[in-house]
Amino acid sequence: MAVWNPWHGCIKYSEGCDNCYVYRMDKKYERDSSKVTINKSFSLPVQKYKNGEYKIKSGDILYTCFSSDFFLDDADVWRTKAWEMMRERRDINFLIITKRILRFMDCIPPDWGDGYGNVIIFCTVENQKRADERLPVFSKLPIKHKGIVCSPLLGPIDLGDYLCGIEQVTVAGESGYNARVCDYNWILSIREQCMEQCVDFKFSQTGAKLRKDGKLYYIKRKYQHSQAGKANINYQKLI
Ligand code: SF4
Repeated sequence: MAVWNPWHGCIKYSEGCDNCYVYRMDKKYERDSSKVTINKSFSLPVQKYKNGEYKIKSGDILYTCFSSDFFLDDADVWRTKAWEMMRERRDINFLIITKRILRFMDCIPPDWGDGYGNVIIFCTVENQKRADERLPVFSKLPIKHKGIVCSPLLGPIDLGDYLCGIEQVTVAGESGYNARVCDYNWILSIREQCMEQCVDFKFSQTGAKLRKDGKLYYIKRKYQHSQAGKANINYQKLI
């Protein structure tokens, strides 16, 4: 999995940010996560080897801005250049996950039109309140490839009409020492909604505290992905 973090750091934005993993990781190194700084790897998508080949191979998916939020206002000064690199590398796909979808139209480049074909945007919602706030906006935005991330899942969510035009929904519980409980029934409910509307569904990680059938399970970080996989509840629509 190739990751491109053009800048680092973020400002907490909603309740899903309370136990942000960027803050947790930075704390170990006594780094202030609220100071947003450009990374050395800023130009990664267009970096080349001495032989002239791009370091990021054609056809790769580049997971973009995973130590910040791509639409953070502190990053406004760098985003234009980031879009330019995405335009230059039409041969790779950029996957962006954001909570700040409400800023989207103020942040796109002039030639965006109905979207770059190589940019996939996932809107994050952690509970019903944030779903109702962000998804009505998200559903109308000119984006060619859209997904929803329900993470950290903090309560049941009715995605209702918001699933129209969505290619995938990913669900995950919260990690970390102070993780909040995720109930397996909330996950199954979202899965059912996706299946009803033929939208791909992925249970990506259990989180640290998963309640199932009324019993609370504490799951170590290293098992959170594999345990979600073992649940075997991912759904892919038939083409
Ligand atoms: S938006 Fe994402 S990266 Fe930023 S504080 Fe919230 S969880 Fe952390």
